Amino acid sequence: MNIALIAHDEKKNDLVQFVTAYQEIFKKHTLFATGTTGLRINEATGLSITRYQSGPLGGDQQIGARIAQNQMDAIFFFRDPLTAQPHEPDVTALVRLCDVYSIPLATNMGTAELLIRGLELGLIDWRNIVKENGEENGR
Ligand code: PGA
Repeated sequence: MNIALIAHDEKKNDLVQFVTAYQEIFKKHTLFATGTTGLRINEATGLSITRYQSGPLGGDQQIGARIAQNQMDAIFFFRDPLTAQPHEPDVTALVRLCDVYSIPLATNMGTAELLIRGLELGLIDWRNIVKENGEENGR
């Protein structure tokens, strides 16, 4: 599965801890991240991660583009609900695209626990069928 990892600054420590705790699961998958988030996780875990631009510089939009191309299977996006973000429109767009394409999205630690355990149990294996049936979303 292709998994995207994103965390706003106040949530980066949480996501690093989360990925560290579940790295045995994450290492079985192909990981992508926005710039700083990916660097932090790589430094903490040694996991191989394809890094896009930093979020405020377009990283959220790059991940959104992969969603629109049917190339992302799950998103862990630890948002900070208490701090204004300069790229709020990009954040909104990314969440919207997850809803457009029914991509599993965890925006906080509580849901992230469910998503990672569900992933391990095969509960989102339907993504493989979606990908086999339509190479790219052609809507
Ligand atoms: P960053 O971007 O990982 O480069 O900090 C995340 C974001 O703020 O959307």
